[in-house]
Amino acid sequence: MRIGKVSGRAVLVRESGAVDIEKASGGRFSASIDGILRDWDALHEWASTVEEGLPTLDGALELPLGGMGQAFAVGANYADHVAEANTEVPRYPMVFAKSWTCLVGPGGDIPLPTAKVDWEVELVAVIGRRAERVSVADAWSYVAALTVGQDITERPLQLSGKAPQFMLGKSFPGFGPVGPVLVSLDEFENPDDLSIECRINGEIMQQSRTRELIFSIPELVAYISASCPLLPGDVIFTGTPSGVGLFQDPVRYLRAGDRIESEIEGIGTLVNQAVAGPAYSRRELFAAGKLS
Ligand code: ZN
Repeated sequence: MRIGKVSGRAVLVRESGAVDIEKASGGRFSASIDGILRDWDALHEWASTVEEGLPTLDGALELPLGGMGQAFAVGANYADHVAEANTEVPRYPMVFAKSWTCLVGPGGDIPLPTAKVDWEVELVAVIGRRAERVSVADAWSYVAALTVGQDITERPLQLSGKAPQFMLGKSFPGFGPVGPVLVSLDEFENPDDLSIECRINGEIMQQSRTRELIFSIPELVAYISASCPLLPGDVIFTGTPSGVGLFQDPVRYLRAGDRIESEIEGIGTLVNQAVAGPAYSRRELFAAGKLS
C-alpha cells in the first residue's frame, strides 16, 4: 500500500493515479494522514479490495505526514559515513530532534540560509501506533511505513565548537524533505536491506544499502521509546550513508538551483530544489557573536 497526500487529502497511490481515501471508502476512513495512521490495519485490508477505475485526483503529491508530531533523527549511523567522518562507531544511537516546521514534501524548496548547507539522504520510519518502552523484537510492529527523507544540514551551526547545535543546524525551514509516499512494510521483500542514493543535478553523491545501518530501525524504535513515547505519525530519520558534501574533496555544498534527488528502493524518488534563502548572518546563527 502506497499512501500520499494531494490537495491536503490522504490518497491511495496506484499506477492509475491517486484515489481519495475518504471519498472512495464512503467516509469510513479519514481524509487526513493522522486519521488513517490510527486505522492503518483496517485501511490496509480495505485498500486490497479497492477496484481499479475509481476517479483519481489531479495535483502534485504533498508532504505525506500529518499536522504535528515528533521528528527524531540519528547521527553517525552508517559504517561508511562514520569512516569518512573519521570518528568512532558509536556504542549507542546518537539521537537528536528535527523541528516539525522544517518538513517539506516532494517538490518543496530548500531555502539556503548560508553557503554551507549539506545533503543527507535517509530512510525514514513512520510510527503507526504508540510505542513506549518497546523491545527490539516487537519494534517493527510499531512502524506503519517507510519513506524517503533528507536531513538537510547547515554544517557550521551543527558542529559549532563546544556547543554543537544538531537540532538547530538541521531545522531551518525546508531542511526536512519527506516523501513522495508512505509505503507499508508488506511491500518490501526485506525492509532491512534497501538501496539508497542521493543525486545532485544528476550526479550520484551517495550510494549505499540500508543494511549498513549501525542501529537498525527496530533498535532505534526500542532505544528512543525507552525515553520518549512514540506516537502515530511520528518519524525517525535513520541516518545517512557516506558521500555528504562536507567530506567531498574539495568540500561541496548546495547552491541555489541545485536539484536534489533522493531515492530508496521500493519507495521511489523524492525531488527537491535548493533556492536562495533569507540571508542569516553568521552572527545571528552563532549566539550573538559569543561563539565563532
Ligand atoms: Zn542525518
